[in-house]
Amino acid sequence: MAPALQRVGPLLRGAPRWLAQRGAGVSAQAGATVRVRFAPSPTGFLHLGGLRTALYNYIFARQHQGSFILRLEDTDQSRVVPGAAEGIEDMLDWAGIPPDESPRKGGPVGPYQQSHRLELYKKASEVLLENGAAYRCFCTPVRLELLKKEALRNRQTPRYDNRCRHLSSKQVAEKLSQGADYVVRFQLKEGAEPFQDLVYGWSKHEVATVEGDPVILKGDGFPTYHLASVVDDHHMGISHVLRGTEWLTSTSKHLLIYRAFGWDPPQFGHLPLLLNKDGSKLSKRQGDIFIERFVQDGCLPEALLDIITNCGSGFAGNQMGRTLEELIMEFDVGRITTHSALLDLDKLPEFNRIHLAQHIGDEKLREKLVTELQRQVEQVYGDQLVDREVLERGYVERILLLRKGHISHVKNMMAPEYSYLWVKPSVSREQLQSVSAELDEIGKLVIGLMEGQIDALTTEKLNEDLRGLQKQLRGTQYSSMMKLLRLVLSAQQHGPSIAEMMASLGPREVCERIKKALSS
Ligand code: GLU
Repeated sequence: MAPALQRVGPLLRGAPRWLAQRGAGVSAQAGATVRVRFAPSPTGFLHLGGLRTALYNYIFARQHQGSFILRLEDTDQSRVVPGAAEGIEDMLDWAGIPPDESPRKGGPVGPYQQSHRLELYKKASEVLLENGAAYRCFCTPVRLELLKKEALRNRQTPRYDNRCRHLSSKQVAEKLSQGADYVVRFQLKEGAEPFQDLVYGWSKHEVATVEGDPVILKGDGFPTYHLASVVDDHHMGISHVLRGTEWLTSTSKHLLIYRAFGWDPPQFGHLPLLLNKDGSKLSKRQGDIFIERFVQDGCLPEALLDIITNCGSGFAGNQMGRTLEELIMEFDVGRITTHSALLDLDKLPEFNRIHLAQHIGDEKLREKLVTELQRQVEQVYGDQLVDREVLERGYVERILLLRKGHISHVKNMMAPEYSYLWVKPSVSREQLQSVSAELDEIGKLVIGLMEGQIDALTTEKLNEDLRGLQKQLRGTQYSSMMKLLRLVLSAQQHGPSIAEMMASLGPREVCERIKKALSS
């Protein structure tokens, strides 16, 4: 639960104590506190772009023993999607990059949901009203609409004409006494200062010459993004703001707001866009970039983190298969370039294959996969399972170990080519004899081979043994013998090697299947 609203009051009086110790450089100075935040608006579920921003922040925090904060920017209540806030935090947990402080976890500078911090923004806007950096604007929606229409008619970009900037205190008092509605606007001053962006270098946007004074507090008491973002970054002690490049031009405005409060700004670093491999925008509407979808598809979090970092900059080189620990070790914010990152999602199965192999190779991680495969077998083959032994952990685990590096998803094991692992095959003697007339001889030889097995079968040893067996035959070639055994064991034409099939099924089951074929 978010801490109570009262917490916010005392914070307003002074800057948080870690601001005083904060280091400005990228390589945080000794003793400096790195605090970064991921600040999504819960207007939708977490998608790949958001995950990447969160990940870079997480990595940066871990590199500097700092804190990673999740703050929900829900000031536009009309756009809030039910369940999105919970979904975002769930997905960060799933991805293995949980926030240290968040709406759910709480923390020392909560609440972490902007809609619970309205008192703070109100007080902050009063500070700016008092020091003259902001003013009340009484312009009606009708007037603003007219301004907009006129600008469009003259082929100009609509902007507020700053009329209420010039109201006298008497005029303001009069309007207030009449109970007129108002918003608070920030006075954009000319002379924006250049700032050094960690990615884009020296930047400056002369906002005052292109924009009208922005609203910072709306009539309903909710702040707009610019005020809320600055106030929260300050009060939450944020040392570095790593966010999407679409906010680069807003930063000059934010710096003017910091200056108006007399606060030290954090360091800014804007992350280049994440685009499709053809350079087009990643579309949320296609629905295929939401993290929930990847979870449902059985994608491993490591594979997703790997692919979204591999397509961009920030590392000395790109290489598949990096774990989160390795990403943390190798990431260098100074290596982020301004080039857009081009994401090729067609490569995701390959990333997943590599990480799935790592999971299969790790005893602890493998446990979960075994359970998942058992669940899928039960679900897909439940009714047809004559032999419940195929659901035994030992059997399922052996199969995963043998398929390590060959499959990209656990669900691949539900493909027809693997059905022989779960249900008994059925094949006619005629079919078998059309492959080799030496069916009986081959069958007996293999049974003999299997009966002598005491230890677990290994594919290497089996390959050797099968070669040896073939030499004892009169007329059947090795390839025909393999084809025949494949049919006997799986009733399929394609699949893993015969040695692997035998190793998966185990000697007893191999013998049973051969005996059944011989007697058919
Ligand atoms: N709420 C903004 C967004 O969803 C955050 C921008 C920022 O990080 O300052 O993109």
